[in-house]
Amino acid sequence: TGEDHTFTSKLPPATVPELTIPQYVFQGVESYLERVAIVDTSDGREYTYRQLKRLVENSAAGMVQHGLKKGDVVLVILPNMAEYFIVVLGAMAAGGVFSGVNPASPSVEIEKQVRDSEAKMVITNLAGYEKVCHLKLPIVVIGENPPPEAIPLSSLFEADGQAALPFSTSPDDLCALPYSSGTTGVSKGVMLTHRNILSILSQTLADYERIPPEIRETLPQYCALGLMPFFHIYGITGIGCSTMRLKGKVVVMERYELRKMLEALIKYEVQFAPLVPPIILSLVKNPLVDEYDLSKLKLNAVMTAAAPLAPELQRAFEAKFPGVEMRQAYGLTEYSCVTLSHCAPGHARGNAKKGSVGFIIPNTEMKFIDPDTGKSLPANTPGEICVRGGAVMKGYYKNPDATKSTVDDEGWLHTGDVGYIDDDGDIFIVDRVKELIKYKGFQVPPAELEAILISHPLIEDVAVIPFPDEAAGEIPVACIVRKQGSDLSQEEIFDFVSSKVAAYKKIRRIEFVSEIPKSPAGKTMRRLLRDSLLKHKTLS
Ligand code: AMP
Repeated sequence: TGEDHTFTSKLPPATVPELTIPQYVFQGVESYLERVAIVDTSDGREYTYRQLKRLVENSAAGMVQHGLKKGDVVLVILPNMAEYFIVVLGAMAAGGVFSGVNPASPSVEIEKQVRDSEAKMVITNLAGYEKVCHLKLPIVVIGENPPPEAIPLSSLFEADGQAALPFSTSPDDLCALPYSSGTTGVSKGVMLTHRNILSILSQTLADYERIPPEIRETLPQYCALGLMPFFHIYGITGIGCSTMRLKGKVVVMERYELRKMLEALIKYEVQFAPLVPPIILSLVKNPLVDEYDLSKLKLNAVMTAAAPLAPELQRAFEAKFPGVEMRQAYGLTEYSCVTLSHCAPGHARGNAKKGSVGFIIPNTEMKFIDPDTGKSLPANTPGEICVRGGAVMKGYYKNPDATKSTVDDEGWLHTGDVGYIDDDGDIFIVDRVKELIKYKGFQVPPAELEAILISHPLIEDVAVIPFPDEAAGEIPVACIVRKQGSDLSQEEIFDFVSSKVAAYKKIRRIEFVSEIPKSPAGKTMRRLLRDSLLKHKTLS
């Protein structure tokens, strides 16, 4: 009928301040300078807000001294560590643009990102230095004994942060360029401005912002676990910037290890832990958890995002950890991370239902469209999720075609996810129409794996599709047509791919097939392969 079904948040609108990210994080910091802002669990080293602010200012000045100009991309290739936030906020304060890289990426993938983003500076550790030292770029190295050609971190930390910077930064400048494959199969730079990210932060923290400042001062310090990767936009915004805006403390962990995580949760009295479904599964199933006295946990909420969470898993978690609220969140890089939220503490809206990924956050509009007609659908009818609001990316870097097919003329971001909204405004994700595969919450773009596989001389054709997996959520399966007469083995193919990609992107299963189904236009019909594999369990 041409009727427009657009849904809006039931929560009151949130005000987005006219600030840059560093200004927002440090607004009012003078009243809590001695609080600890970050602690690194590897050796317990800490930074207070006083130190954090000074080192961010110094790093900004140091980057400018080493040639950084406004709008330049700074590539950060580091595992999670306390100093990560300092250099990211420093780069943003200097007018630069932060682009995170998974430190597990091999040199070829990093080079691709350097080239595509036209990065002007790299910040890394010794392991990362080996992967980029052949590129002619200023490289800042964190750690002892940096190579003589590198810029030691101390040269940023000891720069004069009080000296005026040569340019100013405004909320509409770019501040981040994370890489995401979006709805098509290859990684692209997602252009985010200070305002994009601030719009998400001020919407998700709206309840806190409404608390009168004199009462905020009396609240116990909030403490969040910094385990989710900081190279992902969620780590920096959802964990780093939001915890700092709350005057909280981030407890940084370099990598996931169940025992270490439990010990950190207890030792640092962490209250909030953003996790992903595979970690929730371990918390529920791994017998090691029973060695710990869980009554010592101060945890009051766990959040899971990045991939679907089975409702049975949610129930099992709540039974094992009574008193710990389980929140699901849904988001995507192209919407500056969080898009839906699960709870509104102290607000009449209460919490969303189990199995739901949350409800619409303030200042955000949503619709669910019929993929064939593009028409918006009424409540309780699954369709492709589209969102509109201040957090929609500015576009894909140097890729207007990909931008056009993702953000339409009316400003709607087409997410490639399928879901519906119920009569209470709770949203449920039911499927994904985009090509993306998510292994343990990490993006695995199938087209990248296909490009590698097709380069093998004994492979005729290939399609990479997801297959459900309890521990990882999804695994990438390669459907392969071998060249006639070839007896190429599964092991040879596994090894061929493993040598070229980061571990999380590896092919986990191979199906030899006689042909790859194609549409009349020649497009791989992944859907057909996926459905057939789900139904028959094998394609061979
Ligand atoms: P990224 O840009 O890496 O954050 O990936 C975003 C994609 O992850 C979304 O478009 C969804 O396909 C998926 N995703 C994120 N959160 C959830 C969730 N709670 N449930 C199901 N899928 C999710």
